[in-house]
Order: sequence, then C-alpha cells, then structure tokens
Amino acid sequence: MTERRDVVIAGGGIIGLALAWELTRRGRHVLVLEASEGSADAAARVAAGMLAPVSEVDLAHPDLTRLSIASAEMYADWAYDLEAASGLDVAYETTGTLIVALHRDHLAEIEHLRAFQHDRGLAAETLTRGELRDAEPALAPSVVGGIRVPDRQIDPRRVLAALRAALARAGAEVCDGARVQRIESGLVTYELDGHTTQVEAMQVVIASGAWSGAIEADVALPMRPVKGLVLRLRGERLLQHVVRTPDVYLVPRAYGELVVGATMEERGFDRTQRAGDVYDLLLEATRALPGVRELELSEVCVGFRPALRDHLPAIGEVAPGVFVATGHFRDGVLLTPVTARLLSAVMCGDAPDPLLAPYAPSRFAAVEVTR
Ligand SMILES: Cc1cc2nc3c(=O)[nH]c(=O)nc-3n(C[C@H](O)[C@H](O)[C@H](O)COP(=O)(O)OP(=O)(O)OC[C@H]3O[C@@H](n4cnc5c(N)ncnc54)[C@H](O)[C@@H]3O)c2cc1C
Repeated sequence: MTERRDVVIAGGGIIGLALAWELTRRGRHVLVLEASEGSADAAARVAAGMLAPVSEVDLAHPDLTRLSIASAEMYADWAYDLEAASGLDVAYETTGTLIVALHRDHLAEIEHLRAFQHDRGLAAETLTRGELRDAEPALAPSVVGGIRVPDRQIDPRRVLAALRAALARAGAEVCDGARVQRIESGLVTYELDGHTTQVEAMQVVIASGAWSGAIEADVALPMRPVKGLVLRLRGERLLQHVVRTPDVYLVPRAYGELVVGATMEERGFDRTQRAGDVYDLLLEATRALPGVRELELSEVCVGFRPALRDHLPAIGEVAPGVFVATGHFRDGVLLTPVTARLLSAVMCGDAPDPLLAPYAPSRFAAVEVTR
C-alpha cells in the first residue's frame, strides 16, 4: 500500500528544512525527501551566511528589500527558537558589517550604495579611515573610508544541522538519497537506492533549489544555477565585523573560521574549483586584510544559487495542493524565516500575507505577444 503524509517536501536545503520545521510546529506530519546525503548539495553548505538587506540594497528590487527586512527582523527570535528546539548553537552574530574602500573607485561605489540606502530609509553610518581602523585594527593601512551597516550573520551549516536536529526531535522525517522525479495528483514519485517509490500527500512542496525545474509537475520554472566558489580559512580571529569591499567579502566566525567569497559564474552545474578564482579571492582578501596570508586554507567549496529569470523567489501554490518555495538566489539564508513562516501559514489555510504578492509562481505562465 502507498504510504501517506500530510506534507511531502522535495528538497532538504535550508528552505525545505525550515518549512518542514514550521509545518511540524503547526502539527503537520511532514516528510522531507532530499536527493543528497545529509543535504551535502545544499547551497547553505557553501553560503557565507550574511543577512544583508542593507549591504546589498543596490542589487535588490524594492519588493525584495521589503521581504528581506521582514525576514531580518524575524531572525533573532527564529534563531533563538531553533537553538532551543535543537540544542545546537547556530552562531547568530549581531556585530554588524563594515563596507570599506581601498581606493577612490571603491569610495565612489560605496557612495552610490549609500544613496540607495538613504532612498529606501535604511541606516548607514559613515566612518573615517581612523574610525575603521579603531573598529577593526587588522584592516589594511590602505583603507580610505567606508560605512557601517546593521546587517548580521549566521552560520548556515550550523542552521542546517540545527534544523535536522529540531525536526528529528519533533518526529518529522528527513529521507536522504531520495530524488523526487514527478508530482501528479497528490502522488510523489521518487528514486531511493535505485528503486522507484511513491508516497501520497495532501500537500507537496518543491523546494529543490537550483534543481527545482527538473521535477515533472504542473509548473514550469525558468530556473538556472549560478555557481559560487568560496574559501574557508582557519586561524586567529582577525575581525569582529563582517567586512566587505566592492570586490570581496570576509565573514568571521567565533570559532576561528573566516569565509571569503564569492564568485558569480554562469557555468551550469560545473563543480570545477578553478585556480584563478581561488587566486582572485585571496588577492582581494589580502588587500583588505593582510593577516589572511597567515591563515590556513582549509576548504574551497562550490555551490549553486537558485536563480529564476527575474532573480526573485517563487513562493506559493501552483496547482491544488502543489506549492513551490525556490529561487532565493543570493539571499536564501536571509529569506529563510519569512519564507517558512508565510508559506506555512498559507498551507495551513490563512490568507496569503500581502508581502508574498510579488512572488506568485504564476508570473512565469506563458505570455502571448501579438502584433
Ligand atoms: C557561494 C554562495 C554564497 C552565498 N551566500 C549567501 C549569504 O551570505 N546570505 C544569503 O542569504 N544567501 C547566500 N547564498 C544563497 C543561499 O545559499 C541560497 O539562496 C539558499 O541556500 C537556497 O536554499 P534552497 O533550500 O532553496 O536550495 P538548495 O540549498 O539548493 O537546496 C535544495 C536541496 O534540494 C535537493 N534536491 C535537488 N533536487 C532534488 C529532487 N529532485 N528531489 C529531492 N531533493 C532534491 C538538493 O540536494 C538540495 O539539498 C549563497 C549561495 C552561494 C552558492
């Protein structure tokens, strides 16, 4: 007999797991089907974990800034609840972010960013070279100026581990190595250990990141992967803040890790770790923070940002009982709490929050152009 669940989620990345946790807390019996072992392929295994609605405001549509701010405002409580539910530390840090200029072109770029921030009513504090060096003494003497913004950070790998632990404690199931192939009339067909298996569900969610377009279902998602390569370094903690220049970001963790990122590459699902990319990141990192030279290079990793055609997420129902939560591109870690909370509310019968209106998956339905 075919097994049955309230909800099946295709994809155990940060979005799928967080949604599963939210639905489990609302009393739903949830099964997550995850293609890789232990979410090894999830972008959050690679992501830096910057929660950056202010630092990246110049890259975001105004609607996305609203959603991002809403999520950033939920983060402290969400992280606290997750730590309590899992018993694990997720390294949520509130020290803030410095965006620094190493030369005049950088200064002009940062001034442009400040104008965007000002237009959208977001806070930023201008810092002189001396104030920057006081805040972060290890910065390069060549730093010429910058700003401080209240953006925060979290360790996405720890979030994945904590979500899995919280789900296990709450009795939800995560099945690793299960690749969903098709969703049809409440029946989910997936492959596990070389066998084709089926499970029935009242509701099914596609949360398969950059792979979401490969599942056969009543939805056509114009999805592509945008490759990102980051470095993980280890050693003495050199920074208290997240530090960004227009060319590189440096994300310090309390336990001696420094994440340096990231490339943005249109190469499909190519996992090659190119020497030139490692070189470029290290060069830009040492320009901002010379002490990087003394750290151990502990890991080079590649992940895939899920990008829809308009670079905005798709969150909502696509057919009766079939939902999507994908396309979070560069901001999936930041957007996790708001996505999980607002979509779980819709799935439990609440009216959709107006914040979700711009992200209806139906916006990709074919449009006929006539002359
Ligand atoms: C280099 C890099 C740096 C980043 N930095 C940041 C940052 O600082 N801040 C931020 O907010 N965001 C950042 N991001 C973006 C963020 O990581 C992503 O937007 C987010 O993790 C996407 O999560 P997801 O769960 O939607 O997708 P994914 O993480 O891709 O998870 C999807 C999961 O579905 C599984 N899957 C695929 N196909 C199937 C199938 N058919 N059946 C079952 N399972 C399937 C995959 O194995 C995967 O585990 C970064 C991303 C990268 C690559």
